[in-house]
Amino acid sequence: MFELTFDKMPYLQAIPLSHTAVNQNITLSVLRLDVIHAEISGNKWFKLQFYLNEALKLNSSRIVTFGGAYSNHIIATAVASKMAGIGSMGIIRGDKQTNSTLTIAANAGMQLAFVSRSQFQHKNIIQQQLQQPGDYWINEGGLGPLGVEGAMGIQTYIPPLTTHILCAVGTGTMLAGLIKGALPHQNLIGIPVLKGVDNIRQEIAALVKQPEKMQQMQWFNTYHFGGYAKHNTILLEKMNLWWQLYQLPTDKVYTAKLMWAVFDLIEKNYFPAGSNIVAIHSGGLQGNTSLLPNILKF
Ligand SMILES: *Cc1c(COP(=O)(O)O)cnc(C)c1O
Repeated sequence: MFELTFDKMPYLQAIPLSHTAVNQNITLSVLRLDVIHAEISGNKWFKLQFYLNEALKLNSSRIVTFGGAYSNHIIATAVASKMAGIGSMGIIRGDKQTNSTLTIAANAGMQLAFVSRSQFQHKNIIQQQLQQPGDYWINEGGLGPLGVEGAMGIQTYIPPLTTHILCAVGTGTMLAGLIKGALPHQNLIGIPVLKGVDNIRQEIAALVKQPEKMQQMQWFNTYHFGGYAKHNTILLEKMNLWWQLYQLPTDKVYTAKLMWAVFDLIEKNYFPAGSNIVAIHSGGLQGNTSLLPNILKF
């Protein structure tokens, strides 16, 4: 059984709110899952843990998974596999390239295979071509029942009095786990960071497998900033502002869009008086290395 020793335990960071929100007894905290490890950050350890342990149980020799060139899932899989004493291969979308994400993954012993964007769409064909005996294949982003089960563990760090839990949605695995683990009075709010992905809601429902629990979920699909990894200078300026005001670092792909949504919904009086809001900082700060230096102040 492999268990990651956290560099730092997850904690709740209280964020001061405007006068109006304070008068309405609304509180906001950010659950800092980004602090658990520099490379295996945020939700990625939670989603990976059961896959890794199943691979160990099966005596697999290699973990294989998919991701983009700056993928948090790729870097986490590479480093966690190494720690667990198992080999790894990452199938990377796009032309062969190098950057700090891929260098750290390769240094952790991950073999990298680059496939074109069009080939990357057909993961089953890639698997047929590259599969070797002893492989343990994990879906892109850790999507699947074991990923959901792992993400349920995030609930351990959320106080029972919390009324609203918000998280960024990529594959929806983390949100599915949070819904499964939620108390009956809790509202789960998903903020998709991709454009036009309302179909993910059905996939989440299929992973949760409890139709009545899905009524606890809300969905806001207007905070993607144009699509996956798309961003503008206003978002980057906000990231710097949140750092300046709260010492809250965010990543431009997931958590910045989440925090934008959280503050926007608070401003629009979405949350009823007395709400205790927790936003999940799901990690991924290493993804900011795709930005030019000096854009971010952290
Ligand atoms: C992967 C990732 C997500 C998305 O998680 P899903 O389970 O795929 O929805 C959110 N935030 C960060 C920082 C991530 O790295």
